[in-house]
Amino acid sequence: MDAEGTPMGGQWNYDAENRTAFGKSGPPEITDLPQIEPDTITRDVIAEVTSTLTDHPGNLSLETFNWPVTRQQAFIWLKHFIAHILPRFGDYQDAMWTKEPFLYHSRISAALNTKLINPREVIHAAEQAYREGSAPLNAVEGFIRQILGWREYVRGIYWHYMPDYLDMNTLSAGNKLPEFYWTGKTEYRCLAEAIGQTLDIGYAHHIQRLMVTGLFALLVGVRPREVHEWYLAVYVDAVEWVELPNTLGMSQYADGGIMLQSPILRPVNTSSA
Ligand SMILES: Cc1cc2nc3c(=O)[nH]c(=O)nc-3n(C[C@H](O)[C@H](O)[C@H](O)COP(=O)(O)OP(=O)(O)OC[C@H]3O[C@@H](n4cnc5c(N)ncnc54)[C@H](O)[C@@H]3O)c2cc1C
Repeated sequence: MDAEGTPMGGQWNYDAENRTAFGKSGPPEITDLPQIEPDTITRDVIAEVTSTLTDHPGNLSLETFNWPVTRQQAFIWLKHFIAHILPRFGDYQDAMWTKEPFLYHSRISAALNTKLINPREVIHAAEQAYREGSAPLNAVEGFIRQILGWREYVRGIYWHYMPDYLDMNTLSAGNKLPEFYWTGKTEYRCLAEAIGQTLDIGYAHHIQRLMVTGLFALLVGVRPREVHEWYLAVYVDAVEWVELPNTLGMSQYADGGIMLQSPILRPVNTSSA
């Protein structure tokens, strides 16, 4: 907001500028976040999980593990993202590209959800970049909206509608989750890629979660509770209060539109569950 209380640039929302597609040549240069050297605790936990949870899905190795586990590391990632990646976040927010798991996304969700870093700190850093002229408004507004808008909104949905929300199934979907969600072995290229990277690194960006794995589960009529359990099991940032409204509401329409249509909180009807 500017000093007069109006939105910067004169508009509240720059979503229309956040849908640029890559041309045939693919994405412009992608800067990776710094590699984080696993510390002793991380090494011990990886060794323990590897030896005790032998039949669990997914791959775990020191070579692919790259997540902040301390507040200091979370800030190193945030600083790097703001300086080198945020300027392209807006334009390509909704894009996908083969063998590019991160594109211009921040990978800050796990640090936020484990409280290594505070949403206010992340928002402040992005706003600062706009004020200093190092990131454009459509990137900064879009990024802040995800955190201040979506993240807080789903938090409200979860705490207002639980515990009934968990069992909602408006479309009476009853099929089983396809087995390949646990292996990535499918001839569908988008699904194989999104699930494969998920099992390897515990990450998929929002469009892969919503438009690929989520949409396919919706199309084949998977029981929402099972879809929810999958998302909760496979992502490093998975915490039920963020995950459940995104899965049940946004991706499966299992809540009958509570999340998508009604910002006014209304009572839950579980009769169709
Ligand atoms: C089916 C489904 C399940 C999801 N499960 C989770 C989950 O368990 N935990 C989780 O943190 N997010 C979840 N999300 C939201 C979103 O996909 C992730 O927050 C995002 O992909 C994390 O990557 P990033 O940090 O690179 O995000 P960026 O694209 O860089 O976005 C920045 C931040 O905005 C916030 N954000 C963006 N979109 C959303 C959203 N729809 N809801 C809430 N916050 C959002 C996150 O904190 C994220 O770190 C889910 C989305 C879907 C469609």
